[in-house]
Formats: sequence, C-alpha cells, structure tokens
Amino acid sequence: MADVIIAGGGPTGLMLACELRLAGVDVLVLERLARRTGESRAGGLHARSVELLDQRGIVDRFLAEGSAQPLAHFAFMHLDIEGFPTRHPYAVAIHQSRIEQLLEDRAIELGVRLRRPAEVTGLRQDATGVEVEIAGEAGTERLRADYLVGCDGGRSTVRKLTGIGFPGTDATLTAQLGDVELTDPPAEVVFGPEGRRDNGFYMNFNSEWPGLYRIITVEFDKITNRDEPVTLETLSEACTDIAGTDWGMHSPRRLDRFSDACRLVDRFRAGRVLLAGDAAHVHFPSSGQGLNLGLQDAVNLGWKLAAVVRGQAPDTLLDSYHDERHLHTTHMLNNIRAQTSLWRAGQHADALREVFHDLIEFEDGNRYLGGVISQLDTHYPMGDGHPALGRRMTDLDIKSPTGQIRVFELLHGARPVLLDYTGRSELRTALEGWADRVDLVEAEPRDDHWSFPVLGEVPAPAAALIRPDGHVAWVASTGPADPELPETDTEALVAALTRWFGPTRG
Ligand SMILES: Cc1cc2nc3c(=O)[nH]c(=O)nc-3n(C[C@H](O)[C@H](O)[C@H](O)COP(=O)(O)OP(=O)(O)OC[C@H]3O[C@@H](n4cnc5c(N)ncnc54)[C@H](O)[C@@H]3O)c2cc1C
Repeated sequence: MADVIIAGGGPTGLMLACELRLAGVDVLVLERLARRTGESRAGGLHARSVELLDQRGIVDRFLAEGSAQPLAHFAFMHLDIEGFPTRHPYAVAIHQSRIEQLLEDRAIELGVRLRRPAEVTGLRQDATGVEVEIAGEAGTERLRADYLVGCDGGRSTVRKLTGIGFPGTDATLTAQLGDVELTDPPAEVVFGPEGRRDNGFYMNFNSEWPGLYRIITVEFDKITNRDEPVTLETLSEACTDIAGTDWGMHSPRRLDRFSDACRLVDRFRAGRVLLAGDAAHVHFPSSGQGLNLGLQDAVNLGWKLAAVVRGQAPDTLLDSYHDERHLHTTHMLNNIRAQTSLWRAGQHADALREVFHDLIEFEDGNRYLGGVISQLDTHYPMGDGHPALGRRMTDLDIKSPTGQIRVFELLHGARPVLLDYTGRSELRTALEGWADRVDLVEAEPRDDHWSFPVLGEVPAPAAALIRPDGHVAWVASTGPADPELPETDTEALVAALTRWFGPTRG
C-alpha cells in the first residue's frame, strides 16, 4: 500500500516522486526496466526547468555536470534569451541519462520507494483507490494506492488502460537515430538547418559515449510502422539517401526511431488515475521540449495531489492540473508543429524561414519565441487583475527579519508562501486558518516593479501568494509604498487560499 503509485521511473516520474515526498506523501515508483539503460534522448534543460530545480535547491547538481549555454532556438533559428530577467538565462546541456540519475539520487535521499523491474500491466479503480497489477521478477502481483500516476512514456500502458483519448496529428516523416562508430567520420559537425535536403535532413555529432557519433536522419513523407525494427542497414540507407554518405557506420550501440506524430490527451485525469510527461503528450523533438514539459507537469501536479492525498484539499483541485497543463501544452504542441513545417525543404519552407528570421530580428519577435522555447513564459489563467497573476514568480532578493534570502530559496520545501511587504495584521489574520500549510514571509519593500520575460516590467504589489510550483496565485492591489489594503484584497486572498490549499479545518 502506498499513497501514490507512479508508473515509470523516467524524468517525469522521478521528479513527481520528489515533489510528493517533499510534501510527506508515501510514494512508490514502479519501473519496467531492471536497470537504467544509460542511454539519452534529450540533451538539455531549458531555462524554466533550471529555475524549477533552483526552486527546489538542487540546481547546483545539474550545473556541476552540464554546461550552461545561451541556447534557445526555433527550428534552429537562434533566439537571444541572455537578457531575460532570470538568474538562469540559458539552457543547460546535460544528457538525459545524467538528468535521470540525479533525479533518482534525489528521490532516494527523500525516501521514495523505487521498484524495478515492475511493469504495470493492469489497473482497476474504485471509490477509495486504485488496484495496480504488476509483472515483476516474482510474477504477477497486485498493489493498492489512493492514486496512480502514469509517467510511463509515449506508449503509456496506463493511458491505454484508462481509455483516455489521445487525439492529434499523425506522423508525416520517419526519423532514425543511431549511436554508431564511423570509419570515415565527417570533417564537420552538422547540427542545424545546414543538414536540410530535398528529401529530408540529417545531423551528426558526438554521442555521449566517447568515440561514437550520434547520427539522426529524417525522411519526409515516409511513414514507417513504429514497431518495425531500426537496423544499421535502414539507418545507413536513409543516411546515404539524404547526406550522400553513411561515413562507414558500424558497431551500433543504440538504434531508435521517432516521428512527428503530435498528440495530447483529451484529459490528464480519469478519476484516481492521472497522466504526466510523454504519457500525456508526444511530439517531434524540435527545440527539445518533451522532458522539460514533463518536469513542469510534475511540479504542477505534485503539490496538488499531495494536498488531496493528505485530505487538505478536495479532489476537484486535480482538475486544475488538467486545465492548466492542457492549455499550456496545446500552445507548445502548436509551436512544435510550426517548427516541423520549417524543417521541410523547398521554396515554400525557405520563404517561411526567411520571414521568421526577419521577425526574430525584432526584439518583440525574439522575446515572444524566446519566452515560449525557454518555457519561462509559462503562465496559467488566474482571472483578471494584476498582470503577474498566474505567471512564474521572479526570483527576487528579499530582506526579511531573518536576513537576506531569494524567493526561490523560500520554495525549497515545496510549500506555498505569502510574501508580505505590508507588515499589516490583516494579512496575518487572514492567513491564520492556513498557518499549517502556508508560510508567511514578511519582507522589507525594495522593488517598485517586477520584471517578467515577455511581459516586461509590472508594478510590484504590496503582497503576493506564491504556489509551491512558483506561480503567483494572488497579489495585493496596492504597491509596497502604499500598503493600505482594501478589504476586498483580504477577501480575495482568503478565496485564493481556499481555492488552492483547501478550506480551513473546523
Ligand atoms: C531524438 C530525441 C531527442 C530528444 N531531445 C530532447 C531534448 O533535447 N529536450 C527535451 O526536453 N526532450 C527531448 N526529447 C524528449 C524526451 O526524451 C522525453 O520527452 C522524455 O524522456 C519524457 O520523459 P518521461 O519520463 O515522461 O517518459 P520516458 O522518458 O519515456 O520514461 C518512461 C519510463 O516509464 C517506463 N515504463 C514504460 N512502461 C511502463 C510500465 N507499463 N510500467 C512501468 N514502467 C514503465 C519506461 O521504462 C521509462 O523508464 C527527445 C526525444 C527524442 C526522441
């Protein structure tokens, strides 16, 4: 028995497990594979993911192993995010295998239980929980939990078992990936639009294993049955067709296939079963979004599910996970579909690329796309009012009675924070019923404005309620220089506290 079972120990499942443990939830992760493959698909973390790790106090582990690069691109058209108002205006190049290992180390430190090999093969839910059937070394077993989260990748068994719809667009191309040795290596790395040809495009660059190259081929308008095996011959043939050579490839360590099929679940939740990461959305890996989306799913869901499991909030809070992430992912998938069109060859795609190049030259064009690709502009609808509402909180320096601190440091424990520059008793009184769940931080006013990527500068409010995922859930209508709060502000604060963190007890 566990409070929550997570199917799948990839980046999404591990991040979610950490978030739940921080909130004191008993978590069991079931992973189909007996051991990690050590293989990577993703090669980096975007700026918002770096911020998420900073919000939890573990970013240094990732920065120590990866390299920060001022890299964000839209179909390989460079975006300049260096001037964005964040402490991390860059992407971190780090292999997925290392991201997973670092998250697993963290999960184990926090007391997450991890079982492998344990493949989820069946599930049955009732009014009080979910029974999960697993196939492992000891044969078939049944386990029970209050909730099950499917983080089991693009071919998610959990998604299929719940019958959750997975609408979207079908594949229009076939991509193959190989980590191989080359007898006649290319003189130059091809990692960008220079690999575009009439029939597809290719890339070659160093793989994560010394001496091996990663070769990627993309064949336009070729649809392959995804269960057909990738072989050295199929990769070599595609490479020769597109690049004119296979550089004498041999001794593959890894071969894989992917496509531009682009799908998003019609609901992230079916009763006590939820989905996150690739289990909920798949797309072409242009601009490297998938793993990053999965981390954001995990950080959006973790604190909500924890509050429901602990009986603090009604289970309707989980519907906001669907609402927020479905909306955000819909926009992201559209952006990725547009990028896929720009990868095509021919005059039409070339013309479109030129138009985008011109638009990106404008500060606003660069800022808009940079905000989307870095995921720093992720925001959720939280009603009308102050422009900061629903946005990710800026990592301000704060002067509190206990000393100088950053906002992200306040979020290390994944607890909500009421940041109060007014020092007024109304806010303290309003918060009393939630004192066990929400931290009050009284700070000295120091900023007249807050800066956000894309949005720009907005007037700083006299107080703000920050959710554990770092998004702003309420702000005072007055500024720090004018801390007189109208009564409607405290009413709105109480409504926000109730909505996000459940009613007060008694
Ligand atoms: C070529 C390529 C390059 C990419 N590059 C990037 C990039 O640069 N940046 C980026 O953000 N994304 C990138 N992606 C996407 C990224 O790899 C995925 O989005 C990411 O791995 C999703 O993580 P996940 O944890 O949701 O799923 P997965 O990584 O697929 O993990 C799912 C886990 O569940 C396990 N599992 C499956 N079924 C079961 C079951 N029934 N029971 C128990 N366990 C199960 C699996 O063994 C696996 O460990 C790339 C993808 C490709 C193909």
